[in-house]
Amino acid sequence: MTETIAAISTPAGEGGIAVIRISGADSIETTDRIFSFKGKLADVATHTVHYGHIVHPSNGERVEEVLVTVMRGPRSFTTEDVVEISCHGGIISVKKVLGLVLEQGVRLAEPGEFTKRAFLNGRIDLTQAEAVIDLIRAKSDRAFKIALKQVEGNLSKQVKELRHRLVELMAHIEVNIDYPEHDVEELTNAYIKDKCANAILDLDRLLLSAEQGKILREGIVTAIVGRPNVGKSSLLNALAQDNKAIVTDIPGTTRDVIEEYVNLNGIPLKLLDTAGLRETEDIVERIGVERSRNALTDADLILLVINRNEPLHEDEKLLMEQVKDKQSIVVLNKSDLPTAADLSYMEARFPPERIVPMSVKENEGLDRLGEAIANLFFGGQLETNDITYVSNVRHIHLLNNAKRALEEAQNAADQFVPIDMIQIDIRNAWENLGELVGDSVGESLIDQIFSQFCLGK
Ligand code: GDP
Ligand code: ZN
Repeated sequence: MTETIAAISTPAGEGGIAVIRISGADSIETTDRIFSFKGKLADVATHTVHYGHIVHPSNGERVEEVLVTVMRGPRSFTTEDVVEISCHGGIISVKKVLGLVLEQGVRLAEPGEFTKRAFLNGRIDLTQAEAVIDLIRAKSDRAFKIALKQVEGNLSKQVKELRHRLVELMAHIEVNIDYPEHDVEELTNAYIKDKCANAILDLDRLLLSAEQGKILREGIVTAIVGRPNVGKSSLLNALAQDNKAIVTDIPGTTRDVIEEYVNLNGIPLKLLDTAGLRETEDIVERIGVERSRNALTDADLILLVINRNEPLHEDEKLLMEQVKDKQSIVVLNKSDLPTAADLSYMEARFPPERIVPMSVKENEGLDRLGEAIANLFFGGQLETNDITYVSNVRHIHLLNNAKRALEEAQNAADQFVPIDMIQIDIRNAWENLGELVGDSVGESLIDQIFSQFCLGK
């Protein structure tokens, strides 16, 4: 039998209310010992809320005025008996109540332990459990929606469907191995290859979504580069809408790479502001320059800021060469001023949708920048509603394993390897996908196959 656990499940700090969650076989009995109201929790119906007081069990002294919710298993998040105590006081009274609960022999829950129990008790599958954790950590609205989709089991559903098809294929192969004389449709190599190719297509679709999912979840790592004084810090500030970076007229002031998350038209950007990429004797400045170089290689997106009011500098021409084949956008800043820069030079290297006129000073062009970024990363379509974004490294790894196994099956079928050998590859793919949704690898494949495919008939 598992221990009963408890924890504060609302964020730390001052809030209107705070909730203590208790889960396990003893949760109701334990709460009865420290909760005074007209009756006993042991007798109340499940999913009911009760008003009363938390009292010291030894002297009956009132500690806090609370609402207690009782949810008997299996209709609870963990599938165990769950009690939630809502306190209306600040953090001190919540800790007092939790302290009393723990004194009754309940153990403090480890981080994620409620979710882990929900998984172990079969209430949610592994991808859903992982998504709950992502949900808590989600940095933007969009990331939150993706995690939510996953909690709802979208990825699991697709993976399970894929596994189902692989089991059917394996069953088909199995029959051909065991009962070659049996009256079944003859299994051709072309047929196996076709089935594998279909499954690989689905895996590719999920893996492609992983790239976009990663971006939406973690933010596009964005480097703002350009010569001193073109307006990099101003752009950063406009994006961050506060004054974290130092804006000054003195060239080369921004010496540190400042990390900042911002949200541009719903796209999370993880910004790296860099010092001007200018050779200089200044040692501090040089460190800044080194780091800018790193930023150029680390970034998913490079915003090259140009002051259109000045002729292009050699450094800028060099920078354009360096970034033109990467995911990059030329920000044509200071568009409130007359043009002095040679626009044809950049137009020869960047398509029009990657050159964005802007005046940070006049607060103009940010929307267009957002559109250009969406266009670059999502082909203009930034609709998360119908897509399952795979965003978890473990999932990506397993999907890749499954894909590789199916490619081997395809090759084997191509070279007319005996089908029981091909079967091994397909099974391998099937097992990797099973690990993804948390099905125990030891489950009987044969049972599954026979439930799919009735041989007696
Ligand atoms: P950085 O060295 O590239 O980070 O440039 P800053 O952001 O420090 O800006 C340098 C100077 O250009 C500051 O005086 C800004 O106010 C000014 N500046 C920035 N953007 C614009 C703009 O769009 N138009 C005009 N006219 N001035 C700007
Ligand atoms: Zn700056």
